Amino acid sequence: LGFEAFKLNRQLLDAIVEAGYVHPTPIQEKAIPLAQAGHDVLGIAQTGTGKTAAYVLPILMKVKYAQGMHPRALILAPTRELVMQIEEVVRQLATYTDLRIVSLYGGLGPKTQIETIKAGVDIIISTPGRFIDIYRKNELYTKELKTMVLDEADKMMDMGFMPQIRSILEVIPVKRQNLLFSATFGGRIEKLAHEFLEFPERVEV
Ligand code: AMP
Repeated sequence: LGFEAFKLNRQLLDAIVEAGYVHPTPIQEKAIPLAQAGHDVLGIAQTGTGKTAAYVLPILMKVKYAQGMHPRALILAPTRELVMQIEEVVRQLATYTDLRIVSLYGGLGPKTQIETIKAGVDIIISTPGRFIDIYRKNELYTKELKTMVLDEADKMMDMGFMPQIRSILEVIPVKRQNLLFSATFGGRIEKLAHEFLEFPERVEV
C-alpha cells in the first residue's frame, strides 16, 4: 500500500513522489494514522527508519497552509545537525505548500533567526536552548502552538536538556498534541512520557 492510504492532500502526495518515497516505512505505517487521529504518540524508532517523515507528514496536514504570524508546530531536537536534517525533510515535504519554516540553533547570533520569526512562521524546528533563549527575549509568541515534537528524546535527556524542555512546556498551551520519539525505550523515557504525554499510543519498530 502506498501513501494514498493516508489522508494526505495532493500537495503532500506530490512532494512524497518527488522525494522518491514509494511505500511508507513501518514506523510511518503505524505512527501517521495515530497522529492524524489526534493522539499523543510515543515512537520508538532509530534514525534511518523514516521516523522524521512519520511525524512531519501529520504536522504538515494539520498546519496545512501559512496562517497568521505565529508558530503552530514546534519540533525540538538535541543538536544543530539534527535540526538542520529535520528542516531538510520538512522543506522537501512542504515544497508544494506555502508554509513558513524556521530553524533555530546556537552557534551564531540570534539576530537573523529573530528577523525571520518576525516575518511570520508556521513551523519551528529548534534546539531546546535556542528556543528558550529567543522566547526570553520576548521574540516568540507560543500561545498558538498546537503540536509539539520531541525528537531523539533519549539523546536530549543524555545531553541534559530536561530543564530547558520543562521551561518550554511551561510556556506553551496545555491543550496540544505531543509526539515523542526516542531510539531507546526504558524507565526514563517511560517517565518522560508519563510526564508529558496524555494517553499516548506507543509504536515501536
Ligand atoms: P530518518 O529515519 O527520518 O532519519 O530517515 C532516513 C531516510 O529515509 C531519509 O533520508 C528519508 O528521506 C528516507 N525516507 C523516509 N521515509 C521514506 C520512505 N517512505 N521511502 C523511502 N525513503 C524514505
